[in-house]
Amino acid sequence: MSQLPFSELKLHTNVLENLSSLNYDMMTPIQAKSLPHILAGKDVIAQSQTGSGKTAAFGLGLLEKLDVKKMHVQSLVLCPTRELADQVAKELRKLARTVPNVKILTLCGGMPMRAQLGSLEYGAHMIVGTPGRIEDHLNRGSLQLKALQILVMDEADRMLEMGFQSALDAIVKHTPEQRQTLLFSATFQGQTKSIAKRMMQQPVIVQVASTHDDKSIEQHFYQVGDDDESRLQAIRLLLLQYKPESAVVFCNTKRETEDVANALIYEGFSALALNGDLEQRDRDQVMVRFANKSVSILVATDVAARGLDIDGLDAVINYELAHDSEIHVHRIGRTGRAGKQGVACTLFTLRDDYKMTVLGDYLERDINAEALPSKNLLKESAFKAVMTTLQIGGGKKQKLRPGDILGALTAGNDIAGKQVGKIHVMDQWAYVAVSRDVSKLALKKLGDGKLKGRSFRVRVI
Ligand code: ADP
Ligand code: MG
Repeated sequence: MSQLPFSELKLHTNVLENLSSLNYDMMTPIQAKSLPHILAGKDVIAQSQTGSGKTAAFGLGLLEKLDVKKMHVQSLVLCPTRELADQVAKELRKLARTVPNVKILTLCGGMPMRAQLGSLEYGAHMIVGTPGRIEDHLNRGSLQLKALQILVMDEADRMLEMGFQSALDAIVKHTPEQRQTLLFSATFQGQTKSIAKRMMQQPVIVQVASTHDDKSIEQHFYQVGDDDESRLQAIRLLLLQYKPESAVVFCNTKRETEDVANALIYEGFSALALNGDLEQRDRDQVMVRFANKSVSILVATDVAARGLDIDGLDAVINYELAHDSEIHVHRIGRTGRAGKQGVACTLFTLRDDYKMTVLGDYLERDINAEALPSKNLLKESAFKAVMTTLQIGGGKKQKLRPGDILGALTAGNDIAGKQVGKIHVMDQWAYVAVSRDVSKLALKKLGDGKLKGRSFRVRVI
């Protein structure tokens, strides 16, 4: 693996110092390969797996070009989902910590229009957003991209999969032709290739092969019958065997995510489906409950899981083999991060023979099917998530802060700080995770007027 320090690059000293304070010393392989071209102003197509540091690759490029004194939109980053846009904006703000007065604005669908219009009036240097909403702003005239210098398409493959092709084409028409265009993607084929051809000029293509052995992931493969019953039983056995605190079960269709989640709930597991059919608010709720460990199993499609801001999953289980090998590697890459050992279990059937051969070649290993755990395990009862989420009927609008919630819960010392988990305060709602064994007490304390001296509606979700 190439090990080049950031100091090899001609970056502003305050940016370099910030990188070292973030403990970013060495460039990741995709950064080492793409940054020199990005900084040289070239159009770049960069392909590498999730978690390989693509955000900082383009983020540093955007920061180097930025002129804070000029108050217009200089760069635009398009992302497939709001969650990803939020993640990217967060990383950009982190990288820009030592650059004074940078204004980074997110513009995503599912968020109130009025607030966005207000923020746009104050101006911004960098915009991160989803294609639909950006197009909307361009049509209304509330966003101007006439002086745009750099356009970034992050997770381009997913944007196309999600049907954003025409929005992307429309957005590009609003930008100057001599812009720099950067395209980031985990895969590069078909539609992504053709959009790159239309939007980019002599792009430099850099790729880092998906590595499968630089993280500690233990992969297992199991052959099952080609019917839901066999698959579901296999999933139950694997869950009972590995007892993951957080696991994602991947399905190929939305329908299956619902069916599998319902079947697991029926068996007593804490599971939820995550798919593109969910309303934004329900989606937020699913994410909150999974992130705060009150749901241990998320059953998701690849597209829906794209926006997940989670690392270090204990297990990834493929209910079905992914359609192609890159997607497989992508899925299992969500486990075993940050030096934590992860487990990836994949179910396949006789019909997957060909795909399995291709996958074996791709992974450069022999794939041997293993026997599923003993059916005796099915006698064990399903494990529950360690936490429970309480939903509070008040949020930022009611000036509720995480400290208020923590304070109300721990007052009187009958609930310990460590029994309180993550707290998420949204505009109109707040969510707090508490240990399952104190959930009734917590419900009572929050509902009894101990929170900012008011009584909020509180319920277990
Ligand atoms: P990708 O977009 O390729 O999926 P991200 O940009 O989200 O990956 O980066 C994954 C993680 O790696 C982030 O938490 C980021 O802060 C971290 N990271 C990125 N570059 C470096 C680096 N050079 N050194 C250490 N950590 C890094
Ligand atoms: Mg990314």
